[in-house]
Amino acid sequence: MKKILVTGGAGYIGSHTVVQLLNSGKDIVILDNLSNSSLGVIKRIEDLTGKAVEFIEGDIRDRALVRATFEQHTFDSVIHFAGLKAVGESEAFPLRYFDNNVSGSIVLFEEMMRANVNQLIFSSSATVYGNPGSVCYTEETPLSPINVYGRTKLMVEDILRDLQKANPALRIALLRYFNPVGAHESGRIGENPFGKPNNLMPFMTQVAIGAQEKLMVYGNDYPTPDGTGLRDYIHVEDLAAGHLAALKALEQNASITVNLGTGKPYSVFDMIKAFEGASGVKIPYEVVTRRAGDLSEYYADPTLAKKVLGWEAQLGIDRMCADSWRWQKNNPKGYS
Ligand code: NAD
Ligand code: UDP
Repeated sequence: MKKILVTGGAGYIGSHTVVQLLNSGKDIVILDNLSNSSLGVIKRIEDLTGKAVEFIEGDIRDRALVRATFEQHTFDSVIHFAGLKAVGESEAFPLRYFDNNVSGSIVLFEEMMRANVNQLIFSSSATVYGNPGSVCYTEETPLSPINVYGRTKLMVEDILRDLQKANPALRIALLRYFNPVGAHESGRIGENPFGKPNNLMPFMTQVAIGAQEKLMVYGNDYPTPDGTGLRDYIHVEDLAAGHLAALKALEQNASITVNLGTGKPYSVFDMIKAFEGASGVKIPYEVVTRRAGDLSEYYADPTLAKKVLGWEAQLGIDRMCADSWRWQKNNPKGYS
């Protein structure tokens, strides 16, 4: 059977997707340099699925390794999660982000083409839209990212659009994720940020276990109903399912670009309330000034994903919070 190469498959979204791929009978190989993940996740994936995972520790920028990986296996698809994703860090170290996310992707695509593998799913992001004025993003919303991280995602999207024009045999899905949260229902795999979390949900779960003192709410003076920022949070299990749906849809469509979101925005205060309800733990918080670069509100129009992928998010914020909490409570130190 042909295999799927999953770059970044040891990471948060990758690991959940790998579990679903294995459970649906796909054969996979993970390539990950563990720069933002732990080897421990591989054993957990194996425990959850009852299947052995082929794991290669290495970097997508290592051409010799990537070439050898394509030579040693027969892949029919690549799912490309590998990348750096911290917006603040991308502004401080732009070259690190262009090198890892853009140069790394180019090496991967060159070796993929050399091996005649012609199907790819790429992890793009809602950050490619930037600050377009409207708050409900369709796939037609203009692309104008406002930070380095977002620009790396748009550059890779542009590269893939050009590559496909030149090579019509390619089948490419660009999936623009909104705000992934939640964890596998078992509590065995989940989001495991190194250092202080940047994102709301992992910060909140760390406050709940006492690893952080209190949550800083970045601004309550936005023009939103309760003054805090609104985002489209999506359960990572729904997101993972979107990749399986995209694989299937690529059989009928050579070129797919879709938002993966729920279409329902929630505020920071909504999330605190839902998390307290799901966990039974009170979250101490302090309202502080707005975080630089944050937008007031945005969310996905998920209509196209439903039409093209036959996919829509199923899990609501109570499940997102309950699953994030189970993972954090059972694994206060992550995979270590
Ligand atoms: P993650 O950091 O948990 O996973 C990324 C994985 O890629 C990590 O395991 C890391 O070790 C690996 N990696 C990074 N650079 C690599 C390289 N050069 N070679 C090999 N492996 C490398 O992040 P995630 O949340 O699972 O995100 C997966 C993808 O989705 C990323 O491309 C990210 O930019 C994108 N994305 C994430 C979000 C989000 O909020 N989590 C939103 C939109 C898009
Ligand atoms: N946020 C917050 N405190 C935190 C982290 C995030 O108030 O410690 C807010 C942030 O201002 C935004 C929302 O929570 O309105 C989601 O932020 P996150 O960093 O999770 O995702 P983003 O949409 O910025 O990528």
